[in-house]
Amino acid sequence: MMKWNQLTMGAGALLLTTMLSACGGTEQPVAAKEEAPKATQAAGGKFVAEYGEADTDLAAEGLRLLKPGKVLEGFAASLNGMLVLPYDVTLAGEQCGEVNAYYSPDEKKITMCYELVADGFSRYRDKAGTEEENDEHGQANLVDTLYHELGHAVIDLYDLPALGKEDDAADQLSAFMMSQNDDDSASVQTINYYFSSAGDQDRAALPFYDEHSMDEQRAFNYMCWIYGSDPKAYADWVGEDGLPEGRAAKCPAEYEKLANSWTKLLEPHIKD
Ligand SMILES: [Zn+2]
Repeated sequence: MMKWNQLTMGAGALLLTTMLSACGGTEQPVAAKEEAPKATQAAGGKFVAEYGEADTDLAAEGLRLLKPGKVLEGFAASLNGMLVLPYDVTLAGEQCGEVNAYYSPDEKKITMCYELVADGFSRYRDKAGTEEENDEHGQANLVDTLYHELGHAVIDLYDLPALGKEDDAADQLSAFMMSQNDDDSASVQTINYYFSSAGDQDRAALPFYDEHSMDEQRAFNYMCWIYGSDPKAYADWVGEDGLPEGRAAKCPAEYEKLANSWTKLLEPHIKD
């Protein structure tokens, strides 16, 4: 079983705002063909960041991690530079009373719970070797969660087909977006995040009814897809303590399929 910190080497420090703008602003992951239909080009919606109040210590910490650095504004701006939206979509920081994040199709709103943000930055403090690694875990959790919720949002906004579990499709979009970044810190730490989270769980009480795949499955999926995006660069992930060879052999094709699928689905909605 992969240890949570086996992938931390080489993950450089990165300011979150830099990472966010690099993920969506300067490197558009989906190439728009000239002849591609632009069904919603004239629609004129945009992502709008907003922050609610916080009155618990945990939520206040999450608010502090997001608002002063204008993190949600940065994410919204990078997505606004990339996607044509049929409606305004709210990207909200909120106190939820739980460690969670969700997309509401009724409200056209992605909610990042302050508790989840704060938890992502604090839960590894005892395990991470350095504050820097700890911060990378927190940033990765935030970036992955934002892209995952974006996956739910675009499936709803563009009425996209999603076969299988929608949550797996959302994880695939997140892996695809992160694989476009030159710095692999977010994807590496996302894998660590899910392995670590799985390690904290009582295996006898795993929620098999849940709409998400189990955390350990999500960890291996992300590992497979990121490995599949560049098998040479991540060759040392394969083996007894990492990605089993049988799965690894299929990962380049898995990655290609998800990259092609998401590219095809988003292509009509990418800005010129
Ligand atoms: Zn989800």
